[in-house]
Amino acid sequence: MIMKDIYNRYSFFLKNKYGTKVYKLPVNIPVTCPNRICQKGGCTYCDEKGAGYDNLPGIFSVSEQIRKNMDYIGKKYKAEKFIAYFQNFTNTYLPLPEFKKYITEAAMENVCEIAVSTRPDCIAYPYLDVLKNVSEKYGREITIELGLQSPNWHTLEKINRGHTLAEFIDAVLMIKKYRYGICVHLILNLPWDDESDCIEAAKILSALGVDFIKLHSLYIAEGTKMAEQYKNHEFSICNIDEYKKRVISFLRYLSPDIYVERLVSRAPSDALFANWSTSWWKIRDDIEKEMKENGYFQGDMCSYLGGREVKKFI
Ligand code: SF4
Repeated sequence: MIMKDIYNRYSFFLKNKYGTKVYKLPVNIPVTCPNRICQKGGCTYCDEKGAGYDNLPGIFSVSEQIRKNMDYIGKKYKAEKFIAYFQNFTNTYLPLPEFKKYITEAAMENVCEIAVSTRPDCIAYPYLDVLKNVSEKYGREITIELGLQSPNWHTLEKINRGHTLAEFIDAVLMIKKYRYGICVHLILNLPWDDESDCIEAAKILSALGVDFIKLHSLYIAEGTKMAEQYKNHEFSICNIDEYKKRVISFLRYLSPDIYVERLVSRAPSDALFANWSTSWWKIRDDIEKEMKENGYFQGDMCSYLGGREVKKFI
């Protein structure tokens, strides 16, 4: 791929693919998460909204939510095409007939793509088959959004993710058979990770050939296990400069074929800790500026794939 920008922007990918600006519309269905039930406790940073804080309430049907959001966003931004984004909790953790009903309902006019956010341990072929049927019948693209958050086994245990890298790889390999888009979510400043974990994450995702990545800066919501730990000074969070450094290193090691949807979280305003009290766009702009000034770009350190040591003999 020829890079014209310092990194591959997801907005560019959408414009190129659909020929117009495309907006994501969050959809909220009555699901939970297997990591939150049976006293498992959930991820330590997960609040009662399950990472879906800008959704409409689930009292509205899927089509009502999409229509309401479409009316609002469509008018505001003169948008014509949309992605129905099943965002909160784990959207494949429900019986197959219900899953089918919700996904089918989302295949509305002007919805060009359906994005389903879920956990690596909730990917199974029958669910992927439902998506295949809807995709083929209604001609909609499918993207699966998978949380990994960290490649580090110890960190995943500390945040009580309830899965490790192995389940994540298994899920990616299953989804790849269907050729759906794969978007991976990572938090680059989890307290127990360092820059080397971020670089390793970039290498793993590049080797697996995922399509999109969404980077998050950790925010801590009141009422979570992590909020308790934070108040008890059980961990510290790296400073903002370290976060920017990690994002830059991540991007430099990331394959130039992967599109980047986000560099920093847009946190809810009532979070206990979020983005070092700096706006997300300022952090993003600083990262981009630093990359430009230093001549860095996505993938300029991505020379480790395809048998690095024997390339000279080929
Ligand atoms: S996987 Fe998502 S919804 Fe489930 S506990 Fe973790 S953050 Fe919450």
